[in-house]
Amino acid sequence: MKTIKDINFEGKKALVRVDFNVPLDADFNVTDITRIKAAKPTIIKILEDGGAAVLMSHLGRPKGVEAKFSLGHIVEKVSEVLGVQAKFVDSCVGADAEAAVAELKPGEVLILENLRFHKEETAGDIEFSKQLSKLGDVYVNDAFGTAHRAHASTTIVAQFFEEKVAGYVIEAELVNADKVLKGGDKPVTAIMGGAKVSDKILIIEKLLDVADNIIIGGGMSYTFAKAEGGQIGNSLCQNDLLEYVLELEEKAKAKGVNLIFPIDNFLGDAFSNEANTQTVLRGQIPDGWEGFDIGAQTIELFSKIIKESKTVIWNGPMGVSEIPLYATGTIEVAKAVKAATENGAFSLIGGGDSAAAINNLGFGDDVSYVSTGGGALLEYMEGKELPGIAALKA
Ligand code: AMP
Repeated sequence: MKTIKDINFEGKKALVRVDFNVPLDADFNVTDITRIKAAKPTIIKILEDGGAAVLMSHLGRPKGVEAKFSLGHIVEKVSEVLGVQAKFVDSCVGADAEAAVAELKPGEVLILENLRFHKEETAGDIEFSKQLSKLGDVYVNDAFGTAHRAHASTTIVAQFFEEKVAGYVIEAELVNADKVLKGGDKPVTAIMGGAKVSDKILIIEKLLDVADNIIIGGGMSYTFAKAEGGQIGNSLCQNDLLEYVLELEEKAKAKGVNLIFPIDNFLGDAFSNEANTQTVLRGQIPDGWEGFDIGAQTIELFSKIIKESKTVIWNGPMGVSEIPLYATGTIEVAKAVKAATENGAFSLIGGGDSAAAINNLGFGDDVSYVSTGGGALLEYMEGKELPGIAALKA
């Protein structure tokens, strides 16, 4: 796969798929600039080479054209982050967009309107992709978060370009994921959490080949507890996977991988910050109560293992971390990952809730890499070829 480093953009117009799907408040202010900052090095490289950048992205999930999802809302914030005043055109294909690109000079940035105002984007429509391809001489994909989707702008458009490359974000994502997949320094510890076992089955199977320890926390841990004969009260459980998780435990044992479960759970009687709470040992949750976080003994155990590791990958919260009452386990795991990194470990934080936990605590710079893609990272680590990456190699 070629990357942006292989191309000199002098005199060229680069059509760049970025991930500017950023959160906006009620007044359409950008509330988190992480994704814009992530795309900056790629855009600046194009400009410094003497090229121009045409940026395309989706924002939210509009049904047709919906003003509240206009990328026009983010033009000023993007300009501020880049240090270059960006232009904007309120379409992403057609005569107006083509005219705006034609006027673009070296060193300039143009932002196109939301790709998902056209249903052809997610459908991967070939005609729409062809229209998009008229807006640049070189195609650059730097939207890792959507690289697992065969959408027009992320995959299909690539076939219309001679020159197509990955930007710095995609390159960094793959390099960092490979550091874990190809077996990092030992001990290698994977921390798995989140709601469902089913979302993480394939990655856990893959990690059995490279990890020494796999910590299982979060909602997914109760399926294991029940399969082992424990009482889980009203906690999350995937009953169709009870047999499978026991097989997984056997497989781990055969491969010499330690599967590590909570010792105790922090329970609530409601999915709310005002709930009554108690802590009980794993597998002893009374009816009417639900495991919403790991308990104090578990925090101690998990933290010790994490701090002694030389490679750490973390995907998924240890509890319902969006409710402060149930966020302690996730926060303490984040602190342990930070401490491991300070001790010289390589730490990779999967996207989604674990990335949010790290960033909210201000630890973004204290871990080795925070992935920008939740689903895309999982699929890559499961061993699937991401369509957006495959398209750059074709
Ligand atoms: P995932 O997207 O699979 O990483 O899961 C994240 C979601 O899992 C978050 O919305 C959490 O609220 C939820 N979650 C984690 N632990 C629990 C739990 N013990 N009970 C209910 N939901 C949980």
